[in-house]
Amino acid sequence: MPELTDIHYVRNIMEKHGFHVSKSLGQNFLINPTVCPRIAELGNAKPGFGILEIGTGVGVLTKELAKRADKVVAIELDQKLFPILEETLAGFENIKIIHGDAMQYDLKKLIAEEFQGLQVAVCANLPYYITSPMIMRLLEEKLDITSITVMVQKEAAQRICASVGSRESGAVTVAVAYHGEAMKLFDVSRGSFLPAPNVDSCVMQIALYPENPWNVQDEDLFFRMVRSGFSQRRKQLAGVLCNAFAISKSEISEIFETSGIVPSVRIEALTMPELVRLSNAFSQF
Ligand code: SAM
Repeated sequence: MPELTDIHYVRNIMEKHGFHVSKSLGQNFLINPTVCPRIAELGNAKPGFGILEIGTGVGVLTKELAKRADKVVAIELDQKLFPILEETLAGFENIKIIHGDAMQYDLKKLIAEEFQGLQVAVCANLPYYITSPMIMRLLEEKLDITSITVMVQKEAAQRICASVGSRESGAVTVAVAYHGEAMKLFDVSRGSFLPAPNVDSCVMQIALYPENPWNVQDEDLFFRMVRSGFSQRRKQLAGVLCNAFAISKSEISEIFETSGIVPSVRIEALTMPELVRLSNAFSQF
């Protein structure tokens, strides 16, 4: 079977099945032969692991994952890819492809049913239009997974992997740092895809904490505070929170004093422990 990074083969098989790539589904398929083996190896595709993939395309990454892990379950939204996948992934007994929307699918149930006795990792070349919501979904559902290794647009990786307390950080940086440690693994140029997108990409990884280390007393309040702060990131945080939480200036001063943080600070300057202290002072108020 020819390689799925062979551009002529991929074009032929798509033509044979009358398949046309859909821009709106973020279909940019990997054709650089070095990228998928690296994602698979760095993304924990190894014995003892089950891998959840989001978006198979023609199966180029799926195949590399299945060569290394015990089992791969992939969710693909585009039914028109299924006849192609039947051909490209023929002979692999450890792959299951599910037709569905990864944003809606019951992932907790899927993991419990499909990966019994295995550790689970997520690997994907994510469709760009659901990058942040998909990552947030994977984190917020508190799934039993060890790592998330995903290709995203370079700018998204920079934001997600920034240090909390730096100018590059955002609400998504804090949300990711709350659940695990994020790092950029390697850059991938736009020429590595068919068709080539207008932007470069980056493979990044979130290693999830087995136990949450932050001691946040009220998660909802913590994330409400973070979202409000970053919605007006250039303003002084005390003023922003006064309005967002409808509390008085004297009350907010007391909360900042309890947490040992100056009220004139901007949210982007606060580190994770400082954000936690502030939110806990809020929840005790
Ligand atoms: N893994 C393949 C590769 O690297 O070549 C394909 C990656 S392509 C960037 C994204 C894939 O996700 C496409 O196959 C697309 O059809 C699929 N997709 C888009 N939206 C989806 C969704 N909501 N749920 C599941 N799959 C989706």
